[in-house]
Amino acid sequence: MSLNSVGRPTRPATDASVAGFASLTGGRGLLQDEALIFERESRNGTGVDLPAPDAGAEDLAGLVRAAPLSLPGLSEPETVRHYVRLSQKNHAIDLALYPLGSCTMKHNPRLNEKLARLPGFADLHPLAPVSAVQGALGLMDRLSHWLKTLTGMPAVALSPKAGAHGELCGLLAIRAAHAAAGQVQRRLVLTPTSAHGTNPATAAFVGYEVVEIGQTADGRVDLADLAAKLSDEVAAIMVTNPNTCGLFERDILEISRLTHAAGAYFYCDGANFNAIVGRVRPGDLGVDAMHINLHKTFSTPHGGGGPGSGPVVLSAALAPFAPTPWVVHGPEGFRLLEEAGDEAVQAFGRMTAFHGQMGMYVRAYAYMLSHGADGLRQAAEDAVLNANYIKARLSGVMSAAFPDGPCMHEALFDDRWLEGTGITTLDFAKAMIDEGFHPMTMYFPLVVHGAMLIEPTESESRAELDRFCDALLALAGAALSGDVERFTAAPRLAPLRRLDETLAARKPRLTWRAPEPGVAPAPLAAE
Ligand SMILES: *Cc1c(COP(=O)(O)O)cnc(C)c1O
Repeated sequence: MSLNSVGRPTRPATDASVAGFASLTGGRGLLQDEALIFERESRNGTGVDLPAPDAGAEDLAGLVRAAPLSLPGLSEPETVRHYVRLSQKNHAIDLALYPLGSCTMKHNPRLNEKLARLPGFADLHPLAPVSAVQGALGLMDRLSHWLKTLTGMPAVALSPKAGAHGELCGLLAIRAAHAAAGQVQRRLVLTPTSAHGTNPATAAFVGYEVVEIGQTADGRVDLADLAAKLSDEVAAIMVTNPNTCGLFERDILEISRLTHAAGAYFYCDGANFNAIVGRVRPGDLGVDAMHINLHKTFSTPHGGGGPGSGPVVLSAALAPFAPTPWVVHGPEGFRLLEEAGDEAVQAFGRMTAFHGQMGMYVRAYAYMLSHGADGLRQAAEDAVLNANYIKARLSGVMSAAFPDGPCMHEALFDDRWLEGTGITTLDFAKAMIDEGFHPMTMYFPLVVHGAMLIEPTESESRAELDRFCDALLALAGAALSGDVERFTAAPRLAPLRRLDETLAARKPRLTWRAPEPGVAPAPLAAE
């Protein structure tokens, strides 16, 4: 019998009685095993009863389907249960703390959802006449105003649909600005070794050659290395601040001064804006372009919960090259500037077919209004406080990658403390799943060996942070006392165990084919 922390029985199992036990059906506790929707037998079912068609097949001029349509046929309750069962196999911010570093998995306030579902927003058609959507355009205009005010930047392109898409938007604006100035020899983009993978990937996608900037022993950009690599061939630097080690770049003003002196632009990866919003305006740091992940800083859902949104704020130098569309105030209210022309002569093009993620604009704006400027600042301060609480509680046992001084919004540990145990960062993370906690970000940033990057966000209470730290300290104790199998065999209690995520990403199986009778399905690992 297991007892919870207040002594109430929670489950009858000790580890010994679970080991080797398998249910007869694949179910676990009250969770049922769930087949793919296509694997279910019902092919001819439907959720509605339709009357038999009175027109005969002769009306179809011979275009009668020869084989049955191979779609699953499920009633409404079967359909709902299928997706709810699938969702139960996954983790969600609504279930528990989701400490993925660099992802800012904060609570998604329900008020945002309520407002995004107002029919005046939710039922809009992107081709509705401008006169009929003044409220929606007004909201986009207000959201733009807040984003510009919070960042201290004069312009914003709302339409990019993710952080990475925003990076693409920013670099395309930078490329257009250099082209307009005849600076076509600028073919290099500098990124620090600790950069998120999307930074070099975006630069390469735009056609730039990527050059790495080194890092100092205390986890910041190496200024001397940056200065040595800047030249009239550099188009831009891409720097994250706070950086991916969870540290504020102390020399940010010097970084931007050196960059501008070399004629290059400063792209700031704004994914970590949650740590500084209301405290620091990137425009004051000399930033020329920065994406803002609305789905991180401004609480719109992500991680399977909804589409992202990555508006890009731009400096005065880059603003003329912003992609269309943008909202303008005209004599008859708001309108959308859609076409390159008199008012948008230098726009580099457009990023999206329409205007971007309207539903996410509503959620982000609701979040801003419900917090107010002071509330946004407090959220940033609490996010930093929570990360430092975790850093302080775990540092006695786990090795902090940069032990000196406080961190910003995320606490970074390395795997030195696991040396000689036979347990890796991956094993440790998998053991967290058995304890009911989603793992932290692992092996990122690459500059830290066996990195464990923990970002609690401001949403977590002190009690929840303590529960998390207690679990990690208990696991750490087990690791250091030689209980190796607890880690190498983990996860034992998850519906699925260690998956080949690399293979799944490189060779995704996106289509389903009915198995031929008598033919074994192709092995997943086939090269
Ligand atoms: C999340 C993140 C990105 C990419 O943002 P997406 O919205 O996932 O495309 C880029 N850089 C950093 C540092 C990030 O954390």
